[in-house]
Amino acid sequence: MDLAGVENEIDRVVVSEVELQTKIKELAARVAKDYEGKDLLLIGVLKGAVMAMADLSRALQRHVDMDWMAVSSYGSATKSSGVVRILKDLDRDITGRNVLIIEDIVDSGLTLSWLKANLESRGASSVEILAIVRKSDAAKVKVDVKYIGFEIPPDFVVGYGLDFNEKYRNLPFIAVLAKHMYS
Ligand code: 5GP
Repeated sequence: MDLAGVENEIDRVVVSEVELQTKIKELAARVAKDYEGKDLLLIGVLKGAVMAMADLSRALQRHVDMDWMAVSSYGSATKSSGVVRILKDLDRDITGRNVLIIEDIVDSGLTLSWLKANLESRGASSVEILAIVRKSDAAKVKVDVKYIGFEIPPDFVVGYGLDFNEKYRNLPFIAVLAKHMYS
């Protein structure tokens, strides 16, 4: 769905489709270089990372394995609870693997720091993080994100996998949701 479909529901676009696609190619080139000659397992965090995983994996000029986890930290509210629960675990063992977590957004950092520690404890050789956007000023815990697409203001955003009550994931850009949509 494009902008015309949601014009009255969003406040402004913060990352355009062109910016996203350009950045994905840049990030894929960096990842390919850093993991040259090494095995690579992409772990997408459902459901927000679906778009990033689809675009990034196709931009990578190499073989990759993909697996998925689903964790809950948000519910339908717009603030992170810090309570992380595994809703869907990995299909395979990750002992000795080079893991790259693909995430849509880093807000408080609580979900990712928990996830990184969890995957490290399973015996992965390395665990790094790629996130499409990071909210500046919002980090409650310091989490080392190796690959980051864009720094954005701390507003609630939707699109490119990010939802509000399961809607807006299919927008090809990232936008601030209009306040009247959730208040
Ligand atoms: P954390 O605060 O733990 O870094 O963020 C956890 C999760 O909250 C993210 O993976 C994402 O699913 C969700 N989240 C954080 N900020 C936003 C936002 O602005 N919009 C949407 N749709 N989800 C968000």
